[in-house]
Amino acid sequence: MTIHKTNKDDTKTQASDVKTSRVSLQDRNIYSYHLDELEQFVTPKFRAKQIYNWLYKHYAINTESMKNIPKNLQEVLQQAFSFPNITPIRIEESNDGTKKYLFQTNDGATFESVFIKMREKEYDENNRVKKGEKYTFCVSSQVGCRVGCVFCSTAKGGFVRNLSAGEIVEQVVALKRDNNLDAHKSINIVFMGMGEPLDNLNNVAKAIKILSHEEGLCIATRRQTISTSGIAPQIERLGAMKLGVQIALSLHAVDDALRSRLIPMNKVYNIERVLEALRNFPLDTRKRILFEYLVIKDINDDLGSAKKLVKLLHGFRAKVNLIPFNPHAESEFQRPCPEKMQNFADYLYKKGIVATIRESKGIDISAACGQLRAKQIKMQ
Ligand code: SAH
Ligand code: SF4
Repeated sequence: MTIHKTNKDDTKTQASDVKTSRVSLQDRNIYSYHLDELEQFVTPKFRAKQIYNWLYKHYAINTESMKNIPKNLQEVLQQAFSFPNITPIRIEESNDGTKKYLFQTNDGATFESVFIKMREKEYDENNRVKKGEKYTFCVSSQVGCRVGCVFCSTAKGGFVRNLSAGEIVEQVVALKRDNNLDAHKSINIVFMGMGEPLDNLNNVAKAIKILSHEEGLCIATRRQTISTSGIAPQIERLGAMKLGVQIALSLHAVDDALRSRLIPMNKVYNIERVLEALRNFPLDTRKRILFEYLVIKDINDDLGSAKKLVKLLHGFRAKVNLIPFNPHAESEFQRPCPEKMQNFADYLYKKGIVATIRESKGIDISAACGQLRAKQIKMQ
């Protein structure tokens, strides 16, 4: 970490610098605040930018390390805000570099985030770096989930609470810090950890704005993907916010009977209703809507389903991601055989649909969402 040289005058506190002490904050988590908001608490304005710089470019864990911030402003910040607010209590690392973190919040709730190395550094024949490493962070939006999908480990623990915007942002800071990733290293974010992001839309939207702020982590919104089980009106609300994020729908079934069995919310917003909401979703010109299709042995892995899927997606700029079901103790479903998945993907491809099979990153750790937390709870 580079410590900025401090200008002597810089460390003198003006009376106006301590404005923060008069503000009573509902949420003490410092990562919940957009730069514009911090600027209202701290004057002169440039101090807020400096604080942002310490938080997001240097991943500061206390105010004492904020060398160019005057001592009494440091103290005021320490009293007004809290950080860190999430603590890793368990980390599992896979052979492929995937790391799964179990975090604990200040009120004792636990949730997961996953650090995924998508690509290793590549060198050319002269040993020069041809391509940099690629990382994706999978973050949680809630502790538990209300949707209750039958195949999902997160659902088994029920719903505990929404994560605040700060707790969402802090996952990204903590993963960058723990893996020594430079502030400028670009990463992708997927809201595919625990919880239904559209059931916590206000906090998720705020987190996206903070994560993408140019003075902060500067993660472009087109590099952030929200995955949803399909709360149709919330998809429309998200679209109207024009954040520029990508959207992924957990479709998993091609008929309402099976989808309602897997995702109970389908009884409220069925396939047709969800697809209608997606048709109007504002898309970056180069991007497609991602349809996630969880492939479960003997449930939805047949070519008949692939055929229906092609029909359903007619008219969409779609990309299908086939996800092999990840077995766990709380479900009787089984992993599909690789040949069947390949046939499914080949069929989609033949019909002109971009389809990928999700590599099971971190298969040797508790890879699918909620599984590490379930394990921890069992051990207690
Ligand atoms: N609630 C959102 C985002 C979090 S779940 C959603 O449902 O889209 C992220 C993804 O993990 C979803 O596509 C979900 O279907 C998938 N998932 C859940 N349990 C799984 C399991 N056991 N194996 C593989 N994928 C699973
Ligand atoms: Fe919730 Fe997503 Fe799990 Fe369904 S799959 S229970 S929506 S986290």
